[in-house]
Amino acid sequence: MLTKKLPPVHSVLLLVSRRASQLSRQRYDVIVVGGGHAGTEAAAAAARVGAETLLVTQKIQTIGALSCNPSLGGVGKGHLVREVDALDGLCGRAGDWAGINFSVLNRSKGPAVWGLRAQLDRQRYREFIQAELLSTPRLKVLEGSVEELLVSDPNPAEPGRHRVTGIRLANGSQPISASSVVLTTGTFLSGSLFVGRTSSPGGRIGDAPSSSGLTQTLRDQLGLRVGRLRTGTPPRLLKDSVDLSLAKLHPPDRQPTPFSFMNTQTRCKPEEQLPCYLTYTTPGVERVVRESLHLNCHIQQDAKGPRYCPSIESRVLRFPGRSHQVWLEPEGLTSDLLYPQGLSMTMPPDVQLRLIREIPPLHRAEIHTPGYGVQYDYVCPTQLSPALQVKNTQGLFLAGQINGTTGYEEAAAQGLWAGVNAARRALSQPPAALSRTESYIGVLVDDLVSRGVTEPYRMFTSRAEFRTSLRPDNADLRLTMKGRFELGCVSAVRHHEAVRVRCSLQNAIAALQALTMSSTSWRKKLPGISMSENKNQTLSGMDLLEYKDVSFEMLASVFPECLSPYMEFSQRLKIEAVYKPHNDQNRSEIKRIQSEENMSLPQDIDYFTLPVSLSQEVREILDRFRPTTLGAATRLQGMTPAAIANLFNYVHFTR
Ligand code: FAD
Repeated sequence: MLTKKLPPVHSVLLLVSRRASQLSRQRYDVIVVGGGHAGTEAAAAAARVGAETLLVTQKIQTIGALSCNPSLGGVGKGHLVREVDALDGLCGRAGDWAGINFSVLNRSKGPAVWGLRAQLDRQRYREFIQAELLSTPRLKVLEGSVEELLVSDPNPAEPGRHRVTGIRLANGSQPISASSVVLTTGTFLSGSLFVGRTSSPGGRIGDAPSSSGLTQTLRDQLGLRVGRLRTGTPPRLLKDSVDLSLAKLHPPDRQPTPFSFMNTQTRCKPEEQLPCYLTYTTPGVERVVRESLHLNCHIQQDAKGPRYCPSIESRVLRFPGRSHQVWLEPEGLTSDLLYPQGLSMTMPPDVQLRLIREIPPLHRAEIHTPGYGVQYDYVCPTQLSPALQVKNTQGLFLAGQINGTTGYEEAAAQGLWAGVNAARRALSQPPAALSRTESYIGVLVDDLVSRGVTEPYRMFTSRAEFRTSLRPDNADLRLTMKGRFELGCVSAVRHHEAVRVRCSLQNAIAALQALTMSSTSWRKKLPGISMSENKNQTLSGMDLLEYKDVSFEMLASVFPECLSPYMEFSQRLKIEAVYKPHNDQNRSEIKRIQSEENMSLPQDIDYFTLPVSLSQEVREILDRFRPTTLGAATRLQGMTPAAIANLFNYVHFTR
């Protein structure tokens, strides 16, 4: 149930700022740099784990800002939001607080790949995140720009291995020291903004880039490989100037599905939700793009952009002659603006106006803020351990867009994971592990640290080998207990709720399994179900629930005494039943992978002299990526089954 009352945003900011000016210590367990989606989750998670934490960010008022699209979730991304929530993170509850249009995408496919998504009110989202941070014990927030990372010289006993000791701010104040530092600078690292032929330094419109001192520390002092990526955002349109009658109305789900396992409803009532609208580009749009290419320097640069949310320029050039979807989405409950998803562009503002007016509902549209592009440095993430710690620098963790990902959800998931591990390190606990067999967060982290990125990385359900087990509906069962007892980032309240849900589901499944009778008897009880006539076998209620046209409600109406106490879980029980055969099949494969995953590869191995049969190419790959587990080695490009078997034998029998 969503009962929280938030203080108005201005009073939150005042309180936070006052705390900032009264910074009571110059040493913290964890310092998080950046108050975006990665940074806020990292700071909150580190504090939940028990670390004294400081979040330093350029502007307090932009904490929790949605730099681009006002939406959360989607296919694959919704899974990440659910998992962050199951580990007591912020973004799921913030989405329920700020959502103004909820829909579950991919409904025509199985529930394992449903994509929970919501259109958000930007201001409400920021309000929620800021209020949460304010009320998190052990967490302080400081407005300031981090100029430099303080790094100790490598220890002679560990050549090439540095240790982070703190940060220095741009305002010249005393350095602040910490055991762990989490860098989450988003698109701000050496950021440049592009509109038309002009470019200027910036991390996002209205915000300065991160200082060059930070890039220098990462690149020159720590010797990290750094690459360049780009992204862009569409112009924001004045709603009154758009003729929505010429676009196709796309209503939200009648009953919103909350992101958070702690909420049974969203703040926005079903009837208060706002619709989205769908329209299409015309040949005129392609003409304007082609005519103005020489005026558009962002599109001519080498940095790679996000393949799955490309600019309109890239779409038109890649698929000439096609008409492309444009979603017209609300920016907030009371906002005067519309967000045209699909029209990210970087041409000069007058050309942007010409272009949008080629789309029928936008014939008279006015632009409030022009679209622009941003290019930024990212750190090649194969230089990180599975805890998201830089391998050659103890105590330095990286999360979010700085690791070459794109999207709020990917950033939030990494932030939470880096925050947990940064806190564990500061509190002298060993790094935590999250396998790709148990979570999408595990898939994300493993993909980044073992494969790296060649373009902005976003999550898809196809990246998860065990997607029938890693469903959005069961993220709490998969992760909340682990979060409470192994990671230490889950509160008692959430833990109690997860225990209640798990016990109820176990009892309901036991009750369904105890209801056994012949298929003939089931047919008599539930006339009309499409069970094969010629088979007479004994089936349990759980078996029956696998059938497409059998619902838990139907079974509960026949056996109200034993099943009606579980009506609250009817959908979850149906999904469990549908996926039971897949999961039974997966179990042994998951076990095998987990034992491989868990086999650590010693970090002092000299792969070039290892006395086993490995090709020179494989030795180079292993030396370059230095996987920490056999599972991670398996997924390196260029590894062969024979090489893995030889490596396994070497570690298993000689170490
Ligand atoms: P951010 O949300 O960028 O947060 C970084 C934070 O770090 C900011 O608060 C900043 O003030 C702070 N900071 C930076 N340097 C310092 C410093 N030295 N000291 C203190 N604080 C610092 N994503 C998509 O999925 N699709 C898109 O189409 C898309 N388009 C985008 C277009 C633009 C123009 C921009 C700017 C971003 C776009 N994104 C898009 C990316 C999306 O905003 C990010 O994926 C997400 O915000 C990343 O979260 P983050 O926490 O890593 O970084």
